Amino acid sequence: MSAVHSGPFMPVTTLDPVRRYDVVADCSDNVSTGYLVNDACVLAGWALVSASALRLEGQITVYHYDGGLCYRCIFSQPPPAETVTNCVDGRMLRVVTGVLGCLQALKVLKIAASLGPSYSGSLLLFDALRGHFRGIRLRSCRLDCAACGKWPTVTHLLDYEAFCGSLATDKCHSLQLLSPEDHVSVTDYKRLLDSGAPHLLLDIRPKMEAVLASLPITAESKINSKLSLFCCGLGRVREC
Ligand SMILES: [Zn+2]
Repeated sequence: MSAVHSGPFMPVTTLDPVRRYDVVADCSDNVSTGYLVNDACVLAGWALVSASALRLEGQITVYHYDGGLCYRCIFSQPPPAETVTNCVDGRMLRVVTGVLGCLQALKVLKIAASLGPSYSGSLLLFDALRGHFRGIRLRSCRLDCAACGKWPTVTHLLDYEAFCGSLATDKCHSLQLLSPEDHVSVTDYKRLLDSGAPHLLLDIRPKMEAVLASLPITAESKINSKLSLFCCGLGRVREC
C-alpha cells in the first residue's frame, strides 16, 4: 500500500481506501467532496484533518477525532449551490493555501505519531491580510447528527452531487478542451521559430496578459501558400 492514496474519490470507491489509511486530509475545494470525505471518515471511524481557504483567509480543524464533532455536526445541510464558489472562481492567493497545507500536514503527522491534533473541537482561522491567527471553540457533537449522532441516518455513502446540488469537482464540464495532439509546447514552438517555417502566431490572450509578456508575431510578408496558425492561449496549431 502506498503512503498516500492516489486516484478518484467517488462514493463507490471511497470507503475502502479510507479504511486502509490511518489519517485522512480533505484538501478539496468543493462541498460535495467535503460531505463525501466526512461521511467516509465517520463510517470508517477515522479522524479528518480539514483545511480550506479562499482569497486571503483560511481555516483548519480536525473532525471526528476521539469522539469529537464531525463536519455534519456544524453543517447539517449543504449551502445553496448558487452561493458556493471555489478557488478558481473565488480567487485565491496560493500562498494562503500553502500556509494551510503546511498546518494540515503537521496535524496529519501528529495524529500518525499519536501526538494528538491541536484543533480537535476548535477551529484555527488565518487572516493573511492582517497576519493574524485566531482559534475559536466549536460546538460539541450533535446528538441528532445524521452521520455521527446517536441515531445516524447516513449508513452508507450517498450521491453527494445530488445531495449538494453541485459537482464534486472544480472543473467546468462544459469546457471543450483541445486534445493533446492539438496543443503545441513552448519547446516545439521555439523549434519552429528557429526553423524559420512560415506561420502566423495569433495571440488571443487578454490585453493585460499580452502586455506582461508576448511572443514575436510572424510578419505577414513571410506567409506563403502554406500557413500554420498558432493560437497562443489555446495552444492550437493547424495548417490551413
Ligand atoms: Zn456529526
